[in-house]
Amino acid sequence: MNNLTKSICDMYGIDEKYISLDSKIENDLKDVFSRISDIAMYNQAKVHKAFLDNKVSEVHFAKTTGYGYDDVGREAIEKVYADIFKAEDALVRIQFVNGTHALSTALMCSLRAGDKLLSITGHPYDTLMETVGNKEKQGSLVWHGVEYNMIELVNNEFDYEKIKKEIEENTPKMIFIGRSRGYSSRKSLTIEKIEKVIKYIKEINSDITIMVDNCYGEFVEKREPTEVGADIIAGSLIKNIGGSLCEIGGYIAGRKDLVELAAERLTAPGIGKECGATLGKNKEILQGLYMAPTVVKNAIMSVTYAARLMQEFGIKADPAYNEERTDIVEQIEFNDKDKLIKFIQGIQAQSPIDSFVTPMPWAMPGYTDEVIMAAGTFVSGASIELSADAPIKPPYIAYLQGGITYESAKLSILSATVKMLGESNE
Ligand SMILES: *Cc1c(COP(=O)(O)O)cnc(C)c1O
Repeated sequence: MNNLTKSICDMYGIDEKYISLDSKIENDLKDVFSRISDIAMYNQAKVHKAFLDNKVSEVHFAKTTGYGYDDVGREAIEKVYADIFKAEDALVRIQFVNGTHALSTALMCSLRAGDKLLSITGHPYDTLMETVGNKEKQGSLVWHGVEYNMIELVNNEFDYEKIKKEIEENTPKMIFIGRSRGYSSRKSLTIEKIEKVIKYIKEINSDITIMVDNCYGEFVEKREPTEVGADIIAGSLIKNIGGSLCEIGGYIAGRKDLVELAAERLTAPGIGKECGATLGKNKEILQGLYMAPTVVKNAIMSVTYAARLMQEFGIKADPAYNEERTDIVEQIEFNDKDKLIKFIQGIQAQSPIDSFVTPMPWAMPGYTDEVIMAAGTFVSGASIELSADAPIKPPYIAYLQGGITYESAKLSILSATVKMLGESNE
């Protein structure tokens, strides 16, 4: 059991009344946690099998420098990733500076002037909207002559009628799907829903390339978007799939021709996947991947606990603790600027790194509103570690994610909640 005890309460200045609340919550979460464990078991088996099938070896940890030709470790990593995603190929590189870079590469590699991009989950994530851009925004897709259209979700479901009409009247080259809600109040989309819409699109026109932003989604369900028809997906190594060990990087997986195009966009035409020294990072990527199903399990348990805890104080948390999940994000609606800021600061104050720092609302590149972020993480900004971000605007929503060990994340969440309620003994 992971129960709160009197000695822990003493250590952290938490009122002892939380001991009984905590054990009630733990009890309520039993069934949900067993469902989460079942998914982790399956995903661990999938990852383990990919290591065996690809004969991952100590040789693959070797460092390459310079051009990075014939990096056998890099090649093994990309085969393992492809297997896990049941994709034809994968590009897993430390040369991707973040998730946005990997996603942007996947978007830009195959869209040319005159092509149409259609997003069917509302606008993509804030930072990706810069890639979409406009006529004035140098280097963006629209500036390059790509036409961009967007269809909103209706009651958190795909708008099938509009999608059909748009495909028939204004056929897009690529359709974009955001699996995770990211920083938006819409629901995340389960693999089952993504599967259904992809089938629908492909029946109308099988030539359309379907891309899924898979950030925050890896290993939350038993299947990934590439297993249900997505042509190309991308994500970040400092989120789920890096298992908290990766210090940098991104990945793209999917159809071989698209992965090749993406590689040539990341490096240069004619170079593609052949170059890219790994600088000794291969072990980190492999071990991180190996740990990822378990780390993701801890992250989901952590936000599930937060969801159930918030319910106790009448604070709206979405998804509800017992709802099916497809990402590691919990949306907590404080409806109160002061409570929101206190909660975020409380998470930071209980983080293993930089606990003594007080985060303040700040303008961030790529985001429209001021943002406050708690990220007391081993890897700077890694949101597979317990972290919380919030744009400063009503209804004062925090997006909580991560937690690499359930025990410590739960303690941080409890402490932050106590602080938010103004009950802290500190
Ligand atoms: C994190 C994230 C991205 C990419 O963001 P980076 O901070 O550049 O890694 C894109 N989409 C979603 C939904 C995300 O969560």
